[in-house]
Amino acid sequence: MPEEPCQCPDCQRFYREHDRLIREFPTLRTQQELNWAALQSFRTLSGRVLEDLQKQHGATNHETLSKPLSPAGAAEGEETMDSLQQVIADLENINAHLFSIEALMERVFDVKVPEDIEQKFRELAGELAPDPLNADRLRLNRLLHQTPDLPDKN
Ligand SMILES: [Zn+2]
Repeated sequence: MPEEPCQCPDCQRFYREHDRLIREFPTLRTQQELNWAALQSFRTLSGRVLEDLQKQHGATNHETLSKPLSPAGAAEGEETMDSLQQVIADLENINAHLFSIEALMERVFDVKVPEDIEQKFRELAGELAPDPLNADRLRLNRLLHQTPDLPDKN
């Protein structure tokens, strides 16, 4: 028997989102635009947070130098600074990877296909991710759920 896909809430949320993105962006062109916008918004936001943290980190450094701290306070401040430095390093890494992904994506986005191929994308998108609120689909789901384990309320 083939293994059933995981049905935990996280996976279900992923399947729903996955299918929605196919349904709402059912062509090569719209998938390209969607993914480009997603990548750019990710870069803009995380780049901005990094910039802010770097500024803040500079300020924290300055404060520590100008303010005499008790030994306990100094140790605490150092710990906070270490974890802040780790976050900054992680975000710098993410931004470097996003930059590489952008370079790869540019190649994926150079491609254009004729309208009949876009039509094929639309057809298969409809098969892969049918509208869950479609009347036929709802009827089918109800039939599937009429099992001895899950008796219908009627
Ligand atoms: Zn799961």
